[in-house]
Amino acid sequence: MKHDEFRADLHCHTTCSDGTYTPSELIALAIEKGLKGLAITDHDNVNAYAEAIPLAKAAGLILGSGIEFSSYDKDLSVHILGYDFAIDHNAIAQLSKKHIQRRKMRNGKILEKLAKHGMEIDPAPFEQKIEAGHPVGRPHIATAMMEKGYVSSQHEAFEHWIGDAKPCFDPGSPISTDETIDVIHEAGGKAFLAHPHFLKKKNVIERLLAKPFDGIECYYAKCTPDYEEKWVKLAESKNLLISGGSDFHGTIKPHLPLGCSWVGKERFDQIFERNRCT
Ligand code: AMP
Ligand code: ZN
Ligand code: FE
Ligand code: FE
Repeated sequence: MKHDEFRADLHCHTTCSDGTYTPSELIALAIEKGLKGLAITDHDNVNAYAEAIPLAKAAGLILGSGIEFSSYDKDLSVHILGYDFAIDHNAIAQLSKKHIQRRKMRNGKILEKLAKHGMEIDPAPFEQKIEAGHPVGRPHIATAMMEKGYVSSQHEAFEHWIGDAKPCFDPGSPISTDETIDVIHEAGGKAFLAHPHFLKKKNVIERLLAKPFDGIECYYAKCTPDYEEKWVKLAESKNLLISGGSDFHGTIKPHLPLGCSWVGKERFDQIFERNRCT
């Protein structure tokens, strides 16, 4: 790989959701890794951008707007990446607010279920994070479970207790895939189906791609090139855009380093036509 090659990681998280790097630390790492472009895709919010924009600008790193919304289509959990929307658009702010409420209720129910299984967790640190406008997710709960010694890893917390359909999981009141795509479009952006590799069933993918998605996340984390090529072919056959990124979360997912998946200049320019932040 040439050092001056344009590489843009379009999927990463900060402390504004469930990552462990602050926005400043993430920008510094992106520069250190030689990335030329970046989109920060925190769960359900764009709070990282206020801190990240001046730093990226000073370093000549092109920052496109990004977000990863959680949604449900029927009972299916669907993550949607939003790109190229106006970062301060009210429709995005309103949907972020709705997610904070959804998570507050849902996390309360998860903590109740954990307590019933003898795993008491203090909700106060979560409340502080919510006060600051950041969503609290299951990885935060898993970390608290580890700190209390109830489990020894994030994996164990999800596998035995809080993963989808596990004894202490609660879906809360979900926000639909259709509504989420509409909001991203209303804000002038493009909606991408995130990590379709997780959805597995072909009929599910077909059902989702009948919706007005603009693209598919074809390059993801450490998927192998032949596996990714399948998704590229599917996107091309449907005239959809192609995105890619690492899903970097910092030290809670050390196996996914920033920049381990990326897109080149041509794909970056096709996605970010209107709303670059730097
Ligand atoms: P939430 O946003 O609260 O629904 O939590 C979703 C987050 O949990 C995502 O960032 C996932 O990467 C993470 N996650 C989901 N399943 C697992 C798992 N089995 N092990 C570790 N992390 C997971
Ligand atoms: Zn996450
Ligand atoms: Fe995701
Ligand atoms: Fe993610």
